[in-house]
Amino acid sequence: MSVSPSGNSHVRLLLGAYVLGALSEEEDRRVAAHLGDCAGCGAEYLEMADVPDLLAMFTEADLLEGLGPDTGSGSGPGPGPGSGPGSES
Ligand SMILES: [Zn+2]
Repeated sequence: MSVSPSGNSHVRLLLGAYVLGALSEEEDRRVAAHLGDCAGCGAEYLEMADVPDLLAMFTEADLLEGLGPDTGSGSGPGPGPGSGPGSES
């Protein structure tokens, strides 16, 4: 026999937005309810739940990179902006 859970399709397409907290309250509840009902989507969700962590790591690295040679004045080994061959016409 074929059991269709709540007659609706699975929520895998929404999981990406769900883990990022980008869903509306109604959608969020619907996905949460489905995850409690559907082992397949539940497993998918557990995998996708790592995504925000990865994004956070990228953001952190990006911030560190931004804090590189631009902080502090006079303590940079490289040539600063404006110390090149100035060719003003
Ligand atoms: Zn499902």
